Amino acid sequence: MKKIEDIFNFSATSDECIKCGKCIPVCTIHQVNPDETTSPRGFIELLGAYKRGHLELDKNAKDIFESCFLCTQCVDVCPNSLPTDMIIEEVRADIAEKFGIAWFKKAFFTLLRHRKLMDIMMKLGYTFRTCGFRDDTKRGGMIPRFPMPIIKSGRLLPSLSKTSFMNKYPEEISHGGRRRVAIFIGCLGNYNYTGIGDSLIDILAELEIDAFIPKEQSCCSAPAYFTGDFYTVETLTKKNIEYFETFIDDVEAIIIPEATCSAMIKHDWEVFLRNKDMHDWADRAKELNRKIFMATEWLEKETNLKEILAKRGKKIEDTITYHDACHANLIQGISKEPRVLLSQNYEIKEMSESDRCCGFGGVTMQTEKYHLAEAAGKPKAAMIKDTGATIVSAECSACRMQISNSLHQADIDVVFKNPVELIADALKD
Ligand code: SF4
Ligand code: SF4
Repeated sequence: MKKIEDIFNFSATSDECIKCGKCIPVCTIHQVNPDETTSPRGFIELLGAYKRGHLELDKNAKDIFESCFLCTQCVDVCPNSLPTDMIIEEVRADIAEKFGIAWFKKAFFTLLRHRKLMDIMMKLGYTFRTCGFRDDTKRGGMIPRFPMPIIKSGRLLPSLSKTSFMNKYPEEISHGGRRRVAIFIGCLGNYNYTGIGDSLIDILAELEIDAFIPKEQSCCSAPAYFTGDFYTVETLTKKNIEYFETFIDDVEAIIIPEATCSAMIKHDWEVFLRNKDMHDWADRAKELNRKIFMATEWLEKETNLKEILAKRGKKIEDTITYHDACHANLIQGISKEPRVLLSQNYEIKEMSESDRCCGFGGVTMQTEKYHLAEAAGKPKAAMIKDTGATIVSAECSACRMQISNSLHQADIDVVFKNPVELIADALKD
């Protein structure tokens, strides 16, 4: 698990890399493109040269630095915990400044900064989706009908929901008034995989815990952070911090059924703000952290859900295999908690490398560098198939988007569900 203190005590330069190569076998991009320039050791060497003024940030360098999946697999095994992902995030801001940000990413980040505009666009997208896409109801996705710019033909994308999670529910949902938690839902959970939020509400009802859905919550800013759009990151981070502070004392926790959003909020907000010398803001982000949890982490540690599932949950025939999202396992140390809850009602068949990155990689990887995400997704799909499980689960909608498409491309008949959805299914009459 990454510690923020380690990162600040260490200025990552090529001098501090001992060139041991331990990071290379686990590196997601090196597995896809086995070349020293696309390995953690290679990235660090090149970034050192760039910082010393010996390397120009040209199109070739841009191409190399944009090929990192930011999965943090390298940080986990590095004897010096060198934060390769974070120095790549920093150089991406320089890349964005020098080359600009592609129009479609700029448009997307503008929508992320303006929730109401995003609501309208998503509603329009839902209304007219059948013009450009056909539904794949089995996997809960949609497939382009004809070649489109940016999106490769034949790939599976997340479906759009008629009503977003946040617009579907009132701000306060009372389940007895004894305890109260806030839900941070994340953009994919809000507009695409809305069953996650529905299931979380059902679970909280079973536990008699009130749900507070803070209606002014904004995107956690992870898509912009991974792309180097630091203006969007700063705007969304500060907006969310100010808003969270208005209700943090009135809730037991803010629970997040999404690994990437949770890692961004708990870890990267503070890192980003400190790196920008905004220490007051970083301290405020840190102060919020004590009440921010991934949903299964909080449910397993702070409630009697496990006992309820064992006593009242039904045994489910489907077997599941659990994928450890990098942002849950490596950044937040969460892997046992969802398994403890799920194993009450489901048989879990572990895949060979549950902690291998699924290959999502962020907006650039899913668009301009989709061929790399596609290649990185193949081994994950194959190991899921080998388990014989009918469901794959992970508490991350970015993994869901990537793994569902990888399974679709390989024609593997396994569906993806968030653990929160599986738990709610086990509790249904
Ligand atoms: S963050 Fe992932 S893809 Fe990037 S260098 Fe590290 S292991 Fe490789
Ligand atoms: S594991 Fe760390 S020290 Fe070793 S080569 Fe990789 S980045 Fe350098």
